[in-house]
Amino acid sequence: MCKLAAVPAIAVTGSLAPFKLFANPNSSVKNTSAMSNSDQGYIPSYVALQQSGVLKERGDVLFDEMRHCRLCPRNCETDRISGKRGDCRANADLEISSASPHFGEERELVGQNGSGTVFFTHCSMECVFCINYEVSQMGHGQKYSIRDLSNMMLLLQRHGCHNINLVSPTHYLPHILLALDRASAAGLRLPVAYNTSGWEKTEMLEFLDGVVDIYLTDFKYADHDAAATYSPGSGNYPDIAQKALLEMHRQTGVAKPDPKTNLIYRGLMIRHLVMPGNVARTDRVLRWIAANLPDDTYVNIMSQYTPMHKAHDFPEISRRINRSEYNNAVTIARNAGLTNLRLQMR
Ligand code: SF4
Repeated sequence: MCKLAAVPAIAVTGSLAPFKLFANPNSSVKNTSAMSNSDQGYIPSYVALQQSGVLKERGDVLFDEMRHCRLCPRNCETDRISGKRGDCRANADLEISSASPHFGEERELVGQNGSGTVFFTHCSMECVFCINYEVSQMGHGQKYSIRDLSNMMLLLQRHGCHNINLVSPTHYLPHILLALDRASAAGLRLPVAYNTSGWEKTEMLEFLDGVVDIYLTDFKYADHDAAATYSPGSGNYPDIAQKALLEMHRQTGVAKPDPKTNLIYRGLMIRHLVMPGNVARTDRVLRWIAANLPDDTYVNIMSQYTPMHKAHDFPEISRRINRSEYNNAVTIARNAGLTNLRLQMR
């Protein structure tokens, strides 16, 4: 969920003039046949669950869960259905900041036509350095219905996007499953990428078994104190994220690009953001991955840490990383035996 680049708040631009996602989200979407040829033939895992009725059942169960919400590890038990907002600031209303083809994600998701990104408002984590804090922590976005979300997915497909990329999805899991159920019935056939902080309860991930094709997840910290300091309330992040990664891998396996298209349709893609002074304990993150997941697990070692939002309140993380810090991370990953690395600054 750590974005490679911030998604623009308003997605409809001149070049996307026919893409009336926000201008008319209720527009009926009948023609979904404009998928790029490269994506045709892939049958995403959620289709069978939609056809058997299981997808809707799961969505309904989770929707009811919002009466005493325990969707994320905060377990704040807020009655969101009554309109109250939980610790994540979300109530039962679906709020979305933007939906658009996005070209700043990993190349195996972007392809020629972009990753179909839906950027949800609010977040279960509260990172002091979040580059998207206006959306994640200040509530930038608008209310939409489940039907609207379903139509957004179909419009992204019609626009030629290669996947549906759900950014900060955790607190809107019920809405997502119900929207996906509608969209699948109407012809959605793009793989779903679940773009998350990694702070996910395994019992909630089990609701996504057979639904999500690609887990695009951060592994932010291997240090509890750092997690508690820089993501207040998430001191248990390392333990929760490690269990989540194992479950994500169990469900989807290793992410490998299709040899014909170079796109990834299924599997676990891990992002790790190198932070200044090794506060996140990059060494332990990478060694844990090497010790607990296959050597060819997809790992994107990210260099773009930028001190944003409240980061300047913490002098040790109020700077960008240097080349030596990044290269050290790469060396650790290689020495640990990881073979499927995506690298940036060198
Ligand atoms: S998703 Fe939000 S309301 Fe639900 S447990 Fe987490 S913080 Fe609380």
